[in-house]
Amino acid sequence: MAKWKSAKEHKLHAKTLEIHGGGSLYDTELRIGVDRVAAYPLGSVGRGTKLFAGEEDGFIYSRINNRTVDKLERRLASMEGAEACLATSSGMSAITLLSLYLARTRDNRKGGIVSSNRLYGGVFHLFHEILPRLGIDVSFVGNPHDIDNWEYANYWHKIGLDPPRALRFFHLENPSNPLIDVFDVGTIAEVAHKFEVPLVVDSTLATPALLKPLELGADFVVHSLSKYMGDGEVIGGAILGKKDVIDDLKKTWFRDMGPCMSPDNAAIFLSHVESLSVRMTEHCRNAEKVAKFLSRHEKVKQVFYPSVGVRSKRNKSLMTKGFGGLMAFEVKGGVKAATKVIENLKLFWHAPNIGESRSLVLIPWLTTHGLMSDKDKSKAGILPGVIRASLGREDDRDLCEDLGQ
Ligand code: PLP
Repeated sequence: MAKWKSAKEHKLHAKTLEIHGGGSLYDTELRIGVDRVAAYPLGSVGRGTKLFAGEEDGFIYSRINNRTVDKLERRLASMEGAEACLATSSGMSAITLLSLYLARTRDNRKGGIVSSNRLYGGVFHLFHEILPRLGIDVSFVGNPHDIDNWEYANYWHKIGLDPPRALRFFHLENPSNPLIDVFDVGTIAEVAHKFEVPLVVDSTLATPALLKPLELGADFVVHSLSKYMGDGEVIGGAILGKKDVIDDLKKTWFRDMGPCMSPDNAAIFLSHVESLSVRMTEHCRNAEKVAKFLSRHEKVKQVFYPSVGVRSKRNKSLMTKGFGGLMAFEVKGGVKAATKVIENLKLFWHAPNIGESRSLVLIPWLTTHGLMSDKDKSKAGILPGVIRASLGREDDRDLCEDLGQ
């Protein structure tokens, strides 16, 4: 039996929470079993009626809730410093579900979103192509580093649409994929709150090991767990925030739309998050060493990593624990040269993921951001010769040797 109560969790340090977080005195298993079930027995008719009416807590049906998934949700909430968590089938389903929920029609007025334009390609496509078809318009902030641009985007959002949409929330990816822009979450949250809307932060690339946006003023955090949290083994997502909102989301849109996580995946995530901080330290160290190495390489035009370049001092003050394992670099010679580099690497795999123990590369222009128009890509700083590298946990000397050849 666990020897401490969850009420005392705030006194525990990050590494302890990764292993014990979300536990309670009622836990009886040393390691969580996998509830590989579709349905739970309801017991008496009276209990079943109460469970379905939400008058009694208990597990019902794995699309609605599941004991293994619940364990993961409690662990993630404790790691992130959130009141509650909702685990989903993928990062995209977490972002889609929360966006639909927050931007839903109220008082017969459709809602809209103001978002940073520095986004993973899939999220950009969702915001640019899919949500507008449902009447949810997204205004992109041209330079999200400039706080005035957030104010201006809100203003434009209100006057630029016909009929006008009510602003529902701000969306920020921090750091961004693939160029690793680091933003001032606290200041952007202040602007959002000035307009009385919540700030959603996609903190996939930071993970709670490096940054906790809720402590800085954000209202919701979303994650693709498919990256660092699960060491790239399985796909999953999470939404974290205040308990009343997460509970409402669970009882309504989540329950009816069905983007649930499988219990097997939840068990896999539970085992990988135990080593998150240790792994993140190694990812950060390798990315920093490789960024330094590449910034001195004669065939590299520019390196995108927060510790390199004009913003490095400010970035270090915004993310004091490190910037994670993702970086990008532009090679001289555009997409042709970038292709040659990728095809000649021996240690790096050409694969579309981030945050695995093995190092991975790809060309965002052709792959993850390939659905964006060339103009939108350029506006977001994604150039043809840019290679995205997710630095794994190998010896950095081997990584630099491979990149140098
Ligand atoms: N958010 C970010 C920052 C990502 O990089 C990704 C995927 O690459 C996603 C969300 C989508 O996550 P998933 O692939 O788990 O749906």
